[in-house]
Amino acid sequence: MNDTLVWYRRDLRVADHPALAWASDSGRRAVPVYVHAPHEEAPWAPGGASRWWLHHSLQKLAGDLSDLGLALTHLTGDSAAQLAQAARAAGADSIAWNRAIEPHLAARDETVAAALRDAGLEVALFDSGLLSPPDRLLKDDGTAYRVYTPFAKRLRRQLHEVAIPVYAPAAQDPSGPLPIDVGLDALGLLDKHPWHAKLGRHWEPGEAAAWDHLETFLASAIAGYDERRDQPGVPGTSRLSPHLHFGEITPIQVLARLMPHLDVAPGAAKGAERFLSELLWREFAHHVLWHFPESPERSLNARFEQGFWRDDARLLELWQQGRTGIALVDAGMRELWESGWMHNRVRMVAASFLTKQLGLDWRLGAAWFWDTLVDADLANNTLGWQWVAGCGVDAAPYYRIFNPDLQAEKFDAAAHYRNSWLSAAYREQPPPPLVDLRAARAAALDRYQHHIKQGA
Ligand SMILES: Cc1cc2nc3c(=O)[nH]c(=O)nc-3n(C[C@H](O)[C@H](O)[C@H](O)COP(=O)(O)OP(=O)(O)OC[C@H]3O[C@@H](n4cnc5c(N)ncnc54)[C@H](O)[C@@H]3O)c2cc1C
Repeated sequence: MNDTLVWYRRDLRVADHPALAWASDSGRRAVPVYVHAPHEEAPWAPGGASRWWLHHSLQKLAGDLSDLGLALTHLTGDSAAQLAQAARAAGADSIAWNRAIEPHLAARDETVAAALRDAGLEVALFDSGLLSPPDRLLKDDGTAYRVYTPFAKRLRRQLHEVAIPVYAPAAQDPSGPLPIDVGLDALGLLDKHPWHAKLGRHWEPGEAAAWDHLETFLASAIAGYDERRDQPGVPGTSRLSPHLHFGEITPIQVLARLMPHLDVAPGAAKGAERFLSELLWREFAHHVLWHFPESPERSLNARFEQGFWRDDARLLELWQQGRTGIALVDAGMRELWESGWMHNRVRMVAASFLTKQLGLDWRLGAAWFWDTLVDADLANNTLGWQWVAGCGVDAAPYYRIFNPDLQAEKFDAAAHYRNSWLSAAYREQPPPPLVDLRAARAAALDRYQHHIKQGA
């Protein structure tokens, strides 16, 4: 039997990888290939922090594949042309990959699949990356869910149908990369300026590190997750988001490991149930993106599209740099800049401050997150921003305006979080606050009410 290409994308692992398993099950030798094609992902090509992650994750993947006797070939250019060339170089008559879960990438996949079929290759496609493919669950009337709770209830009922993880294929006799391999460094993922070196102090990309995070979380934090997940100063969440985004671990694998924690006496599984509900938010975010592919660019509540948001470069820059004079917001923005990540509670507060107290366009904040988060994810980021700004599906009501000082008192009472991200100099002499929080809240309420009345 001939060899088969396995096209790697955001599924940078060897276990629970249906395309890789298919190659092995059908007795073909897998030839793993990664094609760097940011122009095909535009305008959502990975940002700076994501490219750092991708570089190191590919490096780890190459090592894990090599343990199986497989060599990763790195290519750059148009995907269809590169894959056709790789198939010729490998003497492969088929190609397998896991379907993209975002609409603009799924559309690209269809074009690539058609071109490769025309070139005479067998194309095998698989679902992976979500518990339920983004187009699968619909309301009884055939339309997409716009509200999380019924969506999550429905999916929760179907979880027993979710496939069990597939195992990594057995090791084979080692082979080298294809002669057309350009090597990892030629993909140019790392910026020349070494700003990203600091990310390595906080993160280790790769499948093994993803499993370490999951097992540590299940062993030490799952029971208290329900209470501690909102406290940014304690290690209360899984920190799995970049690993899930890059497909170093799958939600199916996480669910399989979570099941024993869910399957306990009623009431004892509060932490595990809450954690599952967050995984279901991730599913919902992808469902929304799939059915409303315009949502990264447009407020889903159309009334907020005309003349509502402000654009002020100076305010935006002060927010980006963590110099708003509001301690919790500034701590969050500095955590983001230093580590490529921000705690969920603080993401909500920082995003609310930008869009409500400062009145800036949520897309400006989303774009900054896109460039600086190691877990930057089109579905989750878009849903998070539109939720906070009150302009998305199932969004927070416009009058829910987080007061960052009260949030800090409630969730960071001992100031562990603020102290770990704000320098001594900042704490001694904080910058003057950009706004008076009470006045800014009142102004934001006025602005929303006035706009809604005008549009009604
Ligand atoms: C303004 C804003 C922007 C955001 N941008 C992103 C983003 O670009 N990428 C991203 O992965 N998440 C984003 N989130 C959601 C959330 O903040 C992160 O998923 C979470 O902080 C990741 O930390 P964790 O892995 O420790 O989460 P845990 O609490 O351990 O949760 C487990 C997993 O569930 C998923 N999850 C948790 N919360 C959410 C949520 N609110 N929406 C969707 N999925 C969720 C994530 O995959 C996460 O890894 C954003 C939230 C807001 C408010």
